[in-house]
Amino acid sequence: VPVSSQARNIRPTLLVSRLYQPTNLRHVGQESRLQGEMTCKSQRLMQQAGLIHPSNPGCYYYLPATVRSIEKLVRVIDQEMQGIGGQKLDMPSLCSADLWKTSERWDLMGKELLRLKDRHEVDHCLAPTHEEAVTTLVANHMNLSYKQLPLLLYQITRKFRDEPRPKFGLLRGREFYMKDMYSFDVSEEAAYQTYESVCQAYSRLFARLGLPCVQVQADTGNIGGKLSHEFQLPADIGEDRLLVCGNCSFSANVETISSDRAGCPQCKTGTLVESKGIEVGHTFYLGKKYSQIFNATFTNAQSKPVVTEMGCYGLGVTRILAASIEVLSTEEGIRWPGLLAPYQVCVLPPKKGSKVEEGAVLADNLVHTLVEALPHLRGEVLLDDRTQMTIGKRLKDAGKLGYPYVVVVGESALEETPRFEVICQQTGI
Ligand code: ATP
Ligand code: MG
Ligand code: MG
Ligand code: MG
Repeated sequence: VPVSSQARNIRPTLLVSRLYQPTNLRHVGQESRLQGEMTCKSQRLMQQAGLIHPSNPGCYYYLPATVRSIEKLVRVIDQEMQGIGGQKLDMPSLCSADLWKTSERWDLMGKELLRLKDRHEVDHCLAPTHEEAVTTLVANHMNLSYKQLPLLLYQITRKFRDEPRPKFGLLRGREFYMKDMYSFDVSEEAAYQTYESVCQAYSRLFARLGLPCVQVQADTGNIGGKLSHEFQLPADIGEDRLLVCGNCSFSANVETISSDRAGCPQCKTGTLVESKGIEVGHTFYLGKKYSQIFNATFTNAQSKPVVTEMGCYGLGVTRILAASIEVLSTEEGIRWPGLLAPYQVCVLPPKKGSKVEEGAVLADNLVHTLVEALPHLRGEVLLDDRTQMTIGKRLKDAGKLGYPYVVVVGESALEETPRFEVICQQTGI
């Protein structure tokens, strides 16, 4: 006899009382010992709402609502990356030191590289990025033809960096999700075109999320060349300092220009205004830096091997999530980019024992009617069945969690023409 869903306490309606969103976990008062103070708004709001929980310094449990949100962000990123021809793969996080010694980054990365030895005493690292790995893959690919280029490979995986100061919750972790894409082209000119199309995809992505991102010139560090940009989200807690010209389109990370910042290096007349930003994305034209070392070649029209031109492009997935909460939220409650909210709608039935208790049935029906009428809301509508709590108290909770829409089933729901109060949390109306 099959066990009825009722008996197993699984109901088709998504109930707030059943969500694993623990806010009363041990350690919540002890973050200072565990991982520094609760240093910023997004970290505090996410912890207080049961979205993340600190584990060891710079590492977090991503609780179910956060995972829903990350999965939504991954879907949007996939659409944009595949929209420009990106193909998704997944590379090992456990990397042999040999690759990193070949590129000399085994030494260059210093303490930020998390190193370990396997049982045979062989050196490995937990990858902070994958230029070496992906270039080796492409180099191993015999007879890669010019007809197959540009080749854009990307992944969305956990990255590991032993940050000197992990802080600000998911903004700077030691283990975090990154989208990293690598491009392979036939020529420098083609590589520049690919670079441009990735930057455009990044701009579209941030526009879809409703985030006011600025693209600034970034330091090319030890890679050389001219082409590198960061995508920065303006915020006071941002750790990057940006200079934007009041007169022309010039904008750059402070790191890129000399101490003489009196005037704009581009138009020569404008003054540069300084602001702070959170780096959410970074694009880089690499040229032949890695392809030369690992001998990643393609065969040209004359059947001759030619070293490929490369680019690399990162997006901080978990950082984007925290940064958007940081810039959109109020002190009291989370506000999400609409596309990333873990649930879209929360329906509040009346309090148990109140005059309008029949409203409870209506509320339950409403959940199902909503999903039938608007199929994209399937799995997105919650019923706050904690009816021992007043509507006011549950509304306050809903405000903290930032569901884009809250529907209150009150007295007017029982009138001949039922009416529900709908609150749009983005506008507060
Ligand atoms: P930062 O200057 O903040 O240390 P980065 O320049 O070292 O970042 P990149 O190597 O450019 O980072 O990595 C690509 C993207 O990965 C960054 O733009 C950022 O969004 C994200 N990222 C980097 N480090 C972290 C981290 N410790 N925690 C979360 N996201 C990170
Ligand atoms: Mg860094
Ligand atoms: Mg940086
Ligand atoms: Mg960077």
